[in-house]
Amino acid sequence: APAPSRDFIRTIIDEDNRTGKWAGRVQTRFPPEPNGYLHIGHAKSICLNFGIAKEFGGQCNLRFDDTNPSKEEVEYVESIQEDVRWLGFSWDDRLFYASDYFEKLYAFAEHLIENGKAYVDDLTAEEIRAYRGTLTEPGKNSPYRDRSPAENLDLFRRMRAGEFPDGARVLRAKIDMASPNVVLRDPTLYRIKHVHHHRTGDAWCLYPMYDYTHCISDALEGVTHSLCSLEFENNRPLYDWVLDNIPAPCHPQQIEFARLNLGYTVLSKRKLIQLVTQGHVSGWDDPRMPTLCGVRRRGYTPSAMRDFCDRIGISKADNLVDMALLEHCLREDLNRSARRVMGVLNPVKLIIENYPEGAVEHIDFPYHPEDPAMGSRPVPFTRELYVERDDFQVEAPKKWYRLAPGAEVRLRHAYYVTCTGFDVDPITGEVATIRCIHDPATKGGWSTDGRKVRGTLHWVSAAHAIPAEVRLYDRLFTTETPADGKADFLTFLNPDSLKTVTGARLEPSLAQAAPGDIFQFERLGYFCKDRDSTPETPVFNRSVALKDSWAK
Ligand code: ATP
Ligand code: MG
Ligand code: MG
Repeated sequence: APAPSRDFIRTIIDEDNRTGKWAGRVQTRFPPEPNGYLHIGHAKSICLNFGIAKEFGGQCNLRFDDTNPSKEEVEYVESIQEDVRWLGFSWDDRLFYASDYFEKLYAFAEHLIENGKAYVDDLTAEEIRAYRGTLTEPGKNSPYRDRSPAENLDLFRRMRAGEFPDGARVLRAKIDMASPNVVLRDPTLYRIKHVHHHRTGDAWCLYPMYDYTHCISDALEGVTHSLCSLEFENNRPLYDWVLDNIPAPCHPQQIEFARLNLGYTVLSKRKLIQLVTQGHVSGWDDPRMPTLCGVRRRGYTPSAMRDFCDRIGISKADNLVDMALLEHCLREDLNRSARRVMGVLNPVKLIIENYPEGAVEHIDFPYHPEDPAMGSRPVPFTRELYVERDDFQVEAPKKWYRLAPGAEVRLRHAYYVTCTGFDVDPITGEVATIRCIHDPATKGGWSTDGRKVRGTLHWVSAAHAIPAEVRLYDRLFTTETPADGKADFLTFLNPDSLKTVTGARLEPSLAQAAPGDIFQFERLGYFCKDRDSTPETPVFNRSVALKDSWAK
């Protein structure tokens, strides 16, 4: 992969290292909220944070931003760790939970209260919203804003002790109700929620808000550069305000970058959850999903994902990335790494009339034309084969180099065959068998007489082939920006995003494949064995077709 270029974030770090701002230290973090599975957008953030730590000889923490107890589940915590590891990054012993800081966060809140920087507000949520004002109108002070530090402290401790029901009171920062930045109009720091937490159990009924927690967590971990997406730009003054008003161990720099938007899909956990719970897909790891577990099941590789993240780069400007770029990265990787095998998706029988009945030749097939180290396997060749129905035409157009009556083609690594005729099923009207003769002098699939045979077909031996199910995928949505808000994104679901092919026939070596193994089925694309496979019927997902439409 090309070395990542000097984007604006790396340029800032270079400059910090030059001036000695952090004494050469680089500490980043990836801070997911465990409320869903990670998606391709998160991969951008993971590659950025872990990538920068690696490049600058620093460290990256994995921190679960788990301060919102009602939405978080252990299942998500586990899947997130698996996905980060799968992408090829490790956090060693640097795994943290914001919930581990609850006691410290609480102490800092008391510090703010004692210094007159925070107050307990009894307004309802609706009243707080109404008092906040709008972009064009300043907010109004709450009638509870001028409570004394002693009264605030007493109330805050009783909030912690569980004396009040959910929503009865909140703790707010005392900043400026007239600030042009609405975020600074006395933001809520704590709310009461009598809810069980996945790690702290029932120890707390008082939970800190994201903006309050995030900056302090960064500071407690000694983060130097806190990289987040652009929507947090307006929150940066609050990030700095909190750290300026507590005895913080350090003051990390928040830097915003543009999120990844990908065409024909959605990158938002909230929307992805809907696809799962409403049954539009089979689960979080449905191979059509843009989740990391989904693309992994589809056959996308970690190195293709990292290459993709390098190529899209980092900027301040929002843009929409074409899925074709990701597919291009995948093809480049699999072209190097995937073994070539033969499978026929839509089989029709080909009978070689001059080939001895009952005879079997085991032809040695290399797994990769350019990489002998990948080895080879024997592929049985017999009188009755299956070939692709699409590779035969009764009345062939001009420049048809595949099978047609009278035409000669090459069977991959085997023989030249010439089509002598075909039989039609009297009921369906479909071609039932194709007949041909082979030229025994062309063994291996070549001749010395200069004959031009342009078409090369893949095939499997009918008696040896294993039946398989193959799943072909198309885009999940019919429009490039399903989440642009013009209509419910679900109305743009592509009804034909999954096509299941049940009668495929694969070469027998594939009986040994394990779920997750990825192959190139010659001429058809890259396919990954799915965990739905049974011993009788393997299931393969098409990761990506062979043709590349990505314009370089
Ligand atoms: P979602 O909107 O999908 O729920 P989120 O931003 O709320 O995403 P978090 O779990 O908070 O999800 O994300 C962890 C980190 O990943 C954050 O730093 C966030 O900025 C980053 N991130 C999330 N989505 C993207 C994206 N599409 N592109 C780049 N970074 C992203
Ligand atoms: Mg978030
Ligand atoms: Mg979100």
